Amino acid sequence: MSMRELVVLGTASQAPTRQRNHNGYVLRWDDEVILFDPGEGSQRQLLHTGVTATDLTRICVTHFHGDHCLGLPGIIQRLSLDRVPHPVAAHFPAGGAEYFARLRHATSFYETAELAVEPIEADGQRITLGAGTLEARRLRHPIETYGYRLVEPDARRMLPERLSAYGIAGPAVGELLRVGHLDLDGRRVTRDEVSVPRPGQRFAFVMDTGLCDAVYALAEHADLLVIESTFLESEAALAAEVGHLTAAQAARVAAESGVRRLVLTHFSQRYSDPQRFADEAREHFAGDLVIAEDLATVPVPPRRVASAG
Ligand SMILES: [Zn+2]
Repeated sequence: MSMRELVVLGTASQAPTRQRNHNGYVLRWDDEVILFDPGEGSQRQLLHTGVTATDLTRICVTHFHGDHCLGLPGIIQRLSLDRVPHPVAAHFPAGGAEYFARLRHATSFYETAELAVEPIEADGQRITLGAGTLEARRLRHPIETYGYRLVEPDARRMLPERLSAYGIAGPAVGELLRVGHLDLDGRRVTRDEVSVPRPGQRFAFVMDTGLCDAVYALAEHADLLVIESTFLESEAALAAEVGHLTAAQAARVAAESGVRRLVLTHFSQRYSDPQRFADEAREHFAGDLVIAEDLATVPVPPRRVASAG
């Protein structure tokens, strides 16, 4: 069984609180273990969750405001300390390459781990992974910021009992999938007769942005959407001014985009009761709603049930 889940390291925007560490998230997605936006303290939060530095395959940074990246020096040094044997990819806005270089070499350490540095150079940049495509979209924030989504293509699941009923095995299975049919003793067997649709899953990560088209593009049909809701509607004017979302805006995006499970996070320290975010979001979004808490694990919902075919 492959595992797909979000592990929350921290949920505070700007300044940590007694209950909330700075931002930080890990997505487990089959063989990929992606660390998003490690704020200060992320290394120790990882320890609490059981995710190790060696588990990490990739780091994605949305932008270089401190609460989204000040954990990088510790995490990067930890990769070397633990002698992580595989390269770890790192994505971040290309315009912030100087910040990344400084954070990477913030202090002296013995570098053994390999970072595969692949900055995001343009809106819409795509990176092909084993289990789908990672896409970056430019968000609306005072500095260069990218949100990310991971899209697994739709596929088909072969039905072994049907295959064996037709006596189809080995390379013929691959040919059937590729060509769409197979001719057997005068009888044509189509792909649809021996398989069912397997809808791809989608994960989206939207941080630090005012409302813009890219937010909707990232959220579209996400099975799991992690999105900032720094503010409540009572501070909507301030949110728009500083390039942030309210819980109501984030919830409306989720509703309009067909999101299945919505995770709100990146909360301003001005609000002490997280229930207020839930109450506000509930007025706009009827699906699964999670108000992120530090060290929580949020599964990607089970695969959508395919329509007939
Ligand atoms: Zn920011």
